Amino acid sequence: MIGIKVWAFILKDKNIRYNYIMTDLTDFQLEILPVGIIYRCFSNTDDKIYYGSCSNLDARKKQHNSLSNQCMTRLINGDLEFEMLEQHRDIMRYDLKIRERFFMDNHKDTNRFIINKNTPTGTAKEYHKKRYAKAPKLWAAKQKVYYWKNHEKELARLKKYQQSIKGKVWHCDICDCDVSFGGKSKHKKTLKHLSNVSSASASECISTENLSGSDTALC
Ligand SMILES: [Zn+2]
Repeated sequence: MIGIKVWAFILKDKNIRYNYIMTDLTDFQLEILPVGIIYRCFSNTDDKIYYGSCSNLDARKKQHNSLSNQCMTRLINGDLEFEMLEQHRDIMRYDLKIRERFFMDNHKDTNRFIINKNTPTGTAKEYHKKRYAKAPKLWAAKQKVYYWKNHEKELARLKKYQQSIKGKVWHCDICDCDVSFGGKSKHKKTLKHLSNVSSASASECISTENLSGSDTALC
């Protein structure tokens, strides 16, 4: 039987790997668009709103208004209205999605709720959180299944990792001391390290102040 700590480690590590895969950008995401537009779409007779990005707003408007429209905007009742929020030149497709996400996260209109199905730049972790937010029991059941299917494999991997760091030493530049590789995170939580970090950042503030000649510290 594996202890809860080991299980937490496996889950945490799994999420890290997932995020890494999700943020490993594809050629499509890295593409530079000559024009990038962020817009939102709504109607005066409905309480739904949709956020989107494109490189040609007129063409996108036609798609949203066509009978074969498969986008979530088909659920908005009434005549669609479009509002351009931002326009960029030579922007990476992924950066445009980050801006789209920014507007979605900062949506403050309480009279309208966002109907987007996908969250731009959303990680697998966020997707699962959103999907299972209303079904925690289902999520717990899924975790259990994963645990019993993979725990031997994950344990073996954990053991291999522990063996690989055995005897390795990590040097803390802030405290100027050596600690074992496995004790790195524990050391970072110690009182000694934390007080050294705060005194180091305080002295940095003073030096920045002196350099700039200003009375206001920059940090
Ligand atoms: Zn330290």
